[in-house]
This record gives sequence, C-alpha cells and structure tokens, in this order.
Amino acid sequence: MTEAQRLALLDRQEPFAIVLGCSDSRVPAELIFDQGFGDLFVIRVAGNIVAPSQVGSVEFAAARFGTRLVVVMGHSQCGVVVATLEELMGKTTNQTHNLRSIRDAVRANVRASTNHLRHGSALLEWMIENDGLIVVGAEYSLETGKVDFFDGAPDLS
Ligand SMILES: [Zn+2]
Repeated sequence: MTEAQRLALLDRQEPFAIVLGCSDSRVPAELIFDQGFGDLFVIRVAGNIVAPSQVGSVEFAAARFGTRLVVVMGHSQCGVVVATLEELMGKTTNQTHNLRSIRDAVRANVRASTNHLRHGSALLEWMIENDGLIVVGAEYSLETGKVDFFDGAPDLS
C-alpha cells in the first residue's frame, strides 16, 4: 500500500463487503479473499456466531458505509464447532469426529447466523427488503483454500 492510498482512507471508507468470520488464526478474511486496506469490514468471533454485538456491528457498517453484502463465513476444522459437538454428544462417542457430522454442523451454524442476521434485526430486515442488502453464508475449506457460498448466494447461472 502506498502512502497516497493510505492517506485516501483517512477520512472515508467504502468496504464492499461485511465479513463475519471465525477468530481462528487460519481464516483471516482479507487474506482468504485477497483484499487490502479499506476493502472489507471484518467481524471475527470464535465460531462466527451472531450475538447482539455482532448484529450491532453489521448494522453499523451497513448503515454507515452503505455496504450491501454480508458474508457469514464458517470453516472446516472449526474447533468451536467440534467442541460444541463434543459437548452435545458426549466426548466418549466415536461419532464426535465424524467428518460428515462436523461439516454439517459447520454449515448449520452458518445458516443459524445468516438467519439471525436476516430476521433478528428490524434495520437489517428493512435493508434486505428495500435497500438491496444481501446476506450470504459460506464455508472456507482449510484443505482446498476455496470458499463455497452455499446459503443465499444469488444464482448467477
Ligand atoms: Zn472456527
């Protein structure tokens, strides 16, 4: 980044996407999407869950910067999801580390977050219905480095 580029961001920013992702050190949104300063408004929390403070952050960015794309991004090998499964299923069961069930849980967790953002905030719901806000769910694969947009992505075919 040049000094001129940095200075241009001093008094304004127009991030084109809000990314709600996991705090896991292996899933930095800017690096995954190859983006630079000022491009993404990133909210990271363990397990990419949506609690009131995350809703507030999304509302802030959407209202303040006009950002109209929200991406909730889960990821494979998410320790939070695995720990939650262990808690729910009991640590003794062999099912805990079943890859299929972990993947399903990662995606169910993302869907829960996207649904919460779509319906848990009057402001965001209004923006979706009237002002072009889109909330999509994605899973980043640590194994392949690819992001699969599996929930709510517009069909471009
Ligand atoms: Zn994670």
